[in-house]
Amino acid sequence: MSLIDIHAHFDMLDDAPEVVLEKAKQAGVTRIVTIGTEAGDHQYVLDIARKFYPEVYCTLGVHPHHGSGWKDETGIFIEKHLIEKEVIAVGEIGLDYFYTQSPVAEQHEAFRKQLEIAARNNMPVQIHTRDADQDTVNILNEFKGQVFGVIHCFTGSAWLANQCLDLGYNISFSGVVTFKNASPLREICKIVPLDRLHVETDSPFLAPVPMRGKKNTPAFVVHTAQVVAELKGVSVAELERITNENALRIFPKIVM
Ligand SMILES: [Zn+2]
Ligand SMILES: [Zn+2]
Repeated sequence: MSLIDIHAHFDMLDDAPEVVLEKAKQAGVTRIVTIGTEAGDHQYVLDIARKFYPEVYCTLGVHPHHGSGWKDETGIFIEKHLIEKEVIAVGEIGLDYFYTQSPVAEQHEAFRKQLEIAARNNMPVQIHTRDADQDTVNILNEFKGQVFGVIHCFTGSAWLANQCLDLGYNISFSGVVTFKNASPLREICKIVPLDRLHVETDSPFLAPVPMRGKKNTPAFVVHTAQVVAELKGVSVAELERITNENALRIFPKIVM
């Protein structure tokens, strides 16, 4: 078994990176992407990815929670490091109106600036969107055909899923798809074409059933893969093969 967790936050996990990797490997999770969320963690994710390459990769980006006070120097840092073999995407970037930790207008500015960076450098993106369906689609439409990537930890509506698929984005499911109350999300998972979907943990958040209540860790992506495989009517081995292919197509710097 050789699963990829395309979205984890090493800097927020309790275990040391070596322990995270060992537990992941024992579960059959052999590639992990650790996500940048603000200028303050970019050096950390770069260091982790450099140290554990080719098992660990990173993204660089500013999360919508940190969108306020976007600094051009952060964009310059991101752009400068996109060339590195460990840096597989711009992200996570997007809009979050559930928490609205940053004012909406400032989230829009940071999102657009980073989509421009991705387009200019022909790099994929990892997008975070929560309770911001219409504005996410509007902004992604401004970059139609210029930016590609993944909507991470998808929890939106069927409408949002279809719009994003039409715009060329893939959709990634986290442990949320395993939650008892998530039957609407499971219905959406059924309509996402097999060649357009991913699995992730978003660890340390959102541990899947049967690990709920525990701190999530990349090893647990196997539980999400099991549920997604069932929903898609394929074996876990088949889902693993397909999601790996999808990940390597979207994030071509990942080496298996
Ligand atoms: Zn996110
Ligand atoms: Zn995240």
